[in-house]
Amino acid sequence: MSDQNILVINAGSSSIKFALYSDQRPLGVKLCSGQIESIGAVARFRYALQNGASGSDLWPDVSDHASAFDALIAWLVPQFDRHALAVVGHRVVHGGPRFYQPVIIDTRVMDYLQSAVPLAPLHQPHNICGVRSLQKHFPGVPQVACFDTGFHRTQSAMVEHYALPEEWYQQGVRRYGFHGLSYEYISEQLHVTAPELARGKVIIAHLGNGASLCAMQNGKSIDTTMGFSVLDGLPMGTRPGNLDAGVVLYLLGQCGMQLEELETLLYKQSGLLGMSGISNDMRTLLACDKPQAQMAIDYFVYRVNCQLGALTAVLGGLDGLVFTAGIGEHSSDIRERICKAASWLGIELDDAANSTGKELVSQADSRPQVWVIPTDEELMIAQHCLALI
Ligand code: ADP
Repeated sequence: MSDQNILVINAGSSSIKFALYSDQRPLGVKLCSGQIESIGAVARFRYALQNGASGSDLWPDVSDHASAFDALIAWLVPQFDRHALAVVGHRVVHGGPRFYQPVIIDTRVMDYLQSAVPLAPLHQPHNICGVRSLQKHFPGVPQVACFDTGFHRTQSAMVEHYALPEEWYQQGVRRYGFHGLSYEYISEQLHVTAPELARGKVIIAHLGNGASLCAMQNGKSIDTTMGFSVLDGLPMGTRPGNLDAGVVLYLLGQCGMQLEELETLLYKQSGLLGMSGISNDMRTLLACDKPQAQMAIDYFVYRVNCQLGALTAVLGGLDGLVFTAGIGEHSSDIRERICKAASWLGIELDDAANSTGKELVSQADSRPQVWVIPTDEELMIAQHCLALI
């Protein structure tokens, strides 16, 4: 295969990210990339082309994911030779108990993805919608599902369990973990940039709008803060993170909340947004001097520190901490606050390196080391596609 293109689709609850690669090795040259944001409100489209051109536009006719995919494909088709499209790769949030390796999508896989919708009701339908749209517009082009849960399947059966009767584990109620494509990418990068560290005990902090930590040993996932769903673990932009199951029972049983209301509360109205009452965006909160904004930031840092402690205990020590994703890559302020809170671990941040965008941001003799490595889930998916076809 030469001079063929790989299209990567990453559909979230209100956004669709995309990237088009040429299969020339090494992979990484994007012919174009971008995203549609705020699907469901007034959608905005942003793109960047290989020649450096970029732009952004409001797409008011886009009302849901199906119309967003149609509009995106209409924009994409003139950008490249459609006959050169060799494969489409999708980030699929949930592989359920059966799938963890990337897989070429056929009817059997499609049926299974559909059956896993109850495991991720707010995300999986958008992934399925993406596969259907691409099948409609590019019939005959192979499509590959890459699972966000896959990377964590190296965890032990004990770690995957909840302390519930075993029949529930058998029925799929288990800790799956997410952000797997991001962790896999960082694990690969670390083997290149810091091979000795990559073989050690490392915690990756994927801090974006969704946030989680992953404890890795020798590049493999040992434990992670998300579990059955993307609600668990750290507080996020609009999700609460750790929440006593008793709260859910109370809201349903005593407060008369309906299931849909509860879903909206937990997926869309909690986390940084819910606590602050101001925004889910860390930049807005950092720029705001209202006490509620400060409390939300303090809570975020506090919870990251708690989970760092828990995962360090799991690993039996810590050689390195790696920050990635929106907040982890771009906010030197949050990195500093987290490292200060975690100074008990022996972390010594290099303030100058931290504020000037270096990769290694800890002092030379700091153990654990602290790194900032940008993630690239789309590139990870493109690599999987190339390996599969
Ligand atoms: P997603 O989970 O949607 O992929 P990203 O990894 O793109 O999220 O992260 C988005 C979040 O990163 C934004 O909501 C914002 O809070 C945060 N962010 C981005 N840049 C900065 C910055 N310079 N300072 C603080 N937070 C930032």
